[in-house]
Amino acid sequence: MKAVVYNGPKDVSVNTIDDPKIEKPTDVIIRVTTTNICGSDLHMYDGRTSFEKGRVFGHENLGEVIEVGAAVDRIKKGDRVCMPFNVGCGFCENCERGLTAFCLTTNPGTAGAAYGFAEMGPWQGGQAELMRVPYADFNCLKLPEDAEEKEDDYVMLSDIFPTGWHGVEMSGFLPGESIAIYGAGPVGLMAAHSAQIRGASQIFVVDSHDDRLKLAEAMGAIPIDMRKGDPAQQILDATGGRGTDRGVEAVGYQCCDRHGKERSNYTMNCLVKSTKATGGIGVVGVFVPEDPNAPDDLQKEGKIAFDFGNFWFKGQKIGTGQCNVKHYNRRLMNLIEHGRANPAQIISHRLPLDQAPDAYKHFDERDGGWTKVLLKPGT
Ligand code: NAD
Ligand code: ZN
Repeated sequence: MKAVVYNGPKDVSVNTIDDPKIEKPTDVIIRVTTTNICGSDLHMYDGRTSFEKGRVFGHENLGEVIEVGAAVDRIKKGDRVCMPFNVGCGFCENCERGLTAFCLTTNPGTAGAAYGFAEMGPWQGGQAELMRVPYADFNCLKLPEDAEEKEDDYVMLSDIFPTGWHGVEMSGFLPGESIAIYGAGPVGLMAAHSAQIRGASQIFVVDSHDDRLKLAEAMGAIPIDMRKGDPAQQILDATGGRGTDRGVEAVGYQCCDRHGKERSNYTMNCLVKSTKATGGIGVVGVFVPEDPNAPDDLQKEGKIAFDFGNFWFKGQKIGTGQCNVKHYNRRLMNLIEHGRANPAQIISHRLPLDQAPDAYKHFDERDGGWTKVLLKPGT
């Protein structure tokens, strides 16, 4: 089969590799019909991680079940399914509590597993014609009748829609409150969409790219252009000095180059500043632990020295971590099915798998208009 393979920093190609096989009776094989490129793929693509050469990318996957292991009961051949990016077992003490991003079985000794990801287990990604899904009864979300018609909405259930929702959730948001979202990438835009659906009174979205800020505005958010000065101060000015009730970090340690060595703590300090005293902050942007062997300076240091004193003094609360996608995705699927959510509105490109190398390049360089890329194997 054809698959998008990592060759080294900023180098991917579409190679022919062996088809995946049923390895355990709880597996299924999926014919992938849509698989997205995510901002999280850029951590690997840019060479910031220990992602091994030859690994297949892709953790935002949707497709049709074509082969079913002997112990798979609920999922049937022909089902159209979307896979949460977290690989869970369903029976460890974390999965039991719905904390599938921290499964203790699928990536033993660490926290959590994902398809096509560095340091998150051996699972191959779905940017390919076929993929293997373990513990399939647990890891496949069976889609409704309109699965094909709304495929580009439903594929967002694999990651960014639940992740944006999770950021809002972890901030402690309540209907009628205001919220500031840092980052208008796909995740930040999905946080804005979630806040809109959940009844926010005001939504501010910070970024420095016109096309992304325009999308945020079209969703009902107030765009904050960080090129025009300190974004936290702009939000304070717009709220009469009070700040917002809630804040979401949807950028992560890579931040933007303009902040140089400070970049890893820049958004955290902004959030502490623009969130009101006693407010809450949800951090879904990825920050990485210290790793002396990592290729990237930031990851070598690992430390995020944000202003904890101001955070403490303001009595703020914080939530962090990977999204437990399964905890949300059935309910978010219902919102899509009944026309209450349309996450596909942020898609900029639908491309055949063969065009993945070019798509990675444009998305990585944040070229104007490259917001969310869907790869369509088989087209
Ligand atoms: P992205 O790289 O497309 O978007 C990031 C955006 O942040 C860009 O538009 C960029 O211009 C903007 N930005 C950079 N510096 C900024 C700053 N200082 N202030 C405001 N905006 C700034 O990525 P994405 O796909 O939207 O993902 C965002 C983050 O969320 C990444 O770190 C990704 O790994 C992470 N993520 C986390 C989870 C999770 O489960 N927690 C899931 C998916 C993605
Ligand atoms: Zn993703």
